[in-house]
Amino acid sequence: MSEKPLTSSVREYLSRRIIRELSEKRGRGTELISLYIPPGRRISEVMANLREEYGKASNIKSRTTRKNVQDAIVKVQQRLKLYDEAPENGLVIFCGAIPGETPGSENIEIHVIEPPEKITLSYYGCDDKFYVEPLKEMLEKKDKYLILSIDNSEATIAVASGRNIDIREELTSGVPGKTSKGGQSARRFERLREMELNDFYRRVAEDLNEVYLQNPDIKGLIVGGPGPTKEIFLDKDFIHYELRKKILVVVDTSYTGYQGIKEILEKASEKLQELEIIKERSLVNSFLKLLSTEPDKVVYGLKEVENAILSGRARLILFSEALDVFIVKIKCDNCGYETAEQHTFQETEILPAKLSSTPCPQCGSTSLRIVEKESLLDKYIEMASNKSVQLELISTATEEGMMLYKGFGGVIGMLK
Ligand SMILES: [Zn+2]
Repeated sequence: MSEKPLTSSVREYLSRRIIRELSEKRGRGTELISLYIPPGRRISEVMANLREEYGKASNIKSRTTRKNVQDAIVKVQQRLKLYDEAPENGLVIFCGAIPGETPGSENIEIHVIEPPEKITLSYYGCDDKFYVEPLKEMLEKKDKYLILSIDNSEATIAVASGRNIDIREELTSGVPGKTSKGGQSARRFERLREMELNDFYRRVAEDLNEVYLQNPDIKGLIVGGPGPTKEIFLDKDFIHYELRKKILVVVDTSYTGYQGIKEILEKASEKLQELEIIKERSLVNSFLKLLSTEPDKVVYGLKEVENAILSGRARLILFSEALDVFIVKIKCDNCGYETAEQHTFQETEILPAKLSSTPCPQCGSTSLRIVEKESLLDKYIEMASNKSVQLELISTATEEGMMLYKGFGGVIGMLK
């Protein structure tokens, strides 16, 4: 069975989360390594640099810091041996000793990330924190949209992401207004005007298709303009069939040109947010409808949904973003007492320190420690992916999203 690709709601969420987690990690000393390898750079060259850095590290005064830095370098080298050359978009590696419960119990963590876009940075650095900023900027980059502003006399094509507007093409139709010049018959004039407009639409569509093919990663097409031209243009069916599927919203504006593009973005952003919300709402509502009409087609609650996925009965899982917790297994080294708790990521970071002064509820000694920590969401993502089940993350911004979280334990499933 092929693995199900992650839905965009899950992908975006995971990117945000990994950056958040990496940026919160701190080393005891200047011993966390960040390494950015751009595409095309030879791994053998990177290895040579790392050998040099290993040598330099022998001058570090603190014995633990020295050992931790050198151990981390070795770990990075081992990982790099798996590559002949940097992957298509380059490679980013974070590695270093993250302090554990007691001094000396550091754990060397390594995070290897193949960035979603090409990196240009070539960097090696050692600090008490990971250098995540370049990656963060890339991952948090706003979605890209293709924007068309059009009326009878002109058209402007732009690619926009966040506040950034990049004007790609500006075209004019050269088509005169609706009234005919003296001497021409009204019908002949109208026919000519139609033909010229049609020709204008073709040129606009050609340019639009070209900009789209150069930017296949755009999230959608947004069309706007004063009057009915935009609808007439879209009805002509001149645009690429794949781009047609990406039309998100059509909005009315007062302006054309650059002003028109800005106006479209403003009006569309409201609608786009609505679209997200509408999507979340309708997902939860389709569950509620099933629950009342065919209750044997739905499940909810962690155990039930997990069983449905593993037995291959589930087709769609809705998971609440608010349920971003870790299942932490805690054990007492003295008497063997065991318990499992749910904690947020921030809580798990301070939990070891807290446990070191918490008496065991069974024997009273302060011997509690974490033996296992697992992200609930990761577990679900893996299960859903293995079983080819669609998994969607739902925010708590809507009433339906809150209901999912509070009323159904944060996770629901619809069955085949
Ligand atoms: Zn105990």
